[in-house]
Amino acid sequence: MAGLGLLLDGCAPRALTPPRRDMDLLAIHEGPLPIVQWLTEQPDPGSVLRRHADDAARLRRWYLAALDDGMRRTLAAAGGVGLAAPQVGIPSRVILVQRQDGSEDVLTCVDPVILERSDEEVEGWEACLSIRGVGGKVSRARALRLRYRDLDGGAHVLETRDWEARIFQHELDHLDGVLYVDKLVGPLLPIEEMRRLREEEKAAVARDPAAR
Ligand code: ZN
Repeated sequence: MAGLGLLLDGCAPRALTPPRRDMDLLAIHEGPLPIVQWLTEQPDPGSVLRRHADDAARLRRWYLAALDDGMRRTLAAAGGVGLAAPQVGIPSRVILVQRQDGSEDVLTCVDPVILERSDEEVEGWEACLSIRGVGGKVSRARALRLRYRDLDGGAHVLETRDWEARIFQHELDHLDGVLYVDKLVGPLLPIEEMRRLREEEKAAVARDPAAR
C-alpha cells in the first residue's frame, strides 16, 4: 500500500508550510518589511529579485495572510502603487496592486497569470521601490485580461488598462525575476528628471490631446 499512499500524496492538494526563513522574516517585523534593493551599478545575479518565484496558492492560509499584511504595511509606508513578494525577500507569486479606478483599494493577487494582452503597446515612465532614485520609459501592452486567486483561494478574472495595466505588468515581471530596467526604451534617468519630463508630457497632452 506504500505505493498507493505515495500516489495519493502526490495528487492531494496539500498545504505547504513555507520555509522557516520566510516565516521568521514576517514574524520579526511588525512595521514595514525591508525592501530588497537592486543596484544597477552592482548587479547581483543571485538576488531574490532575479528568481522565478514559486506558486503560492498551496501555501498555508495563515502564512499568506501574514505575507499580505506585511506587504500592505510595506507598500503603505513606501507610498508605492504596487509591490511583489520577492521585493520583500519572499520568492512567492503574490503581488499587491493599488487600483486606479478611483477607489485606491489595494488588491492582493495570488498566482496572477496574464490570459490576454492587447497588441497595442504604449510607452510610459516607471520607477521601482527596489531601484531607488531612478526611473525610465518602458513599452507595455495597453490592456490586459488576467486571472488570479484571492487569499481564500477564490478565482477571479480582471480586465485592466492604461496606468493600472502597466502596474500589473511591472509587478508580474517581478515574479519572473524581470526588472523594468531590463526593458528600457530610453535612458535610465534620475527620478527628479523623470518626474520633470513626465509632467512636461502630461502638460503637452493636456494642451493637445492628439499628441498622446
Ligand atoms: Zn518594481
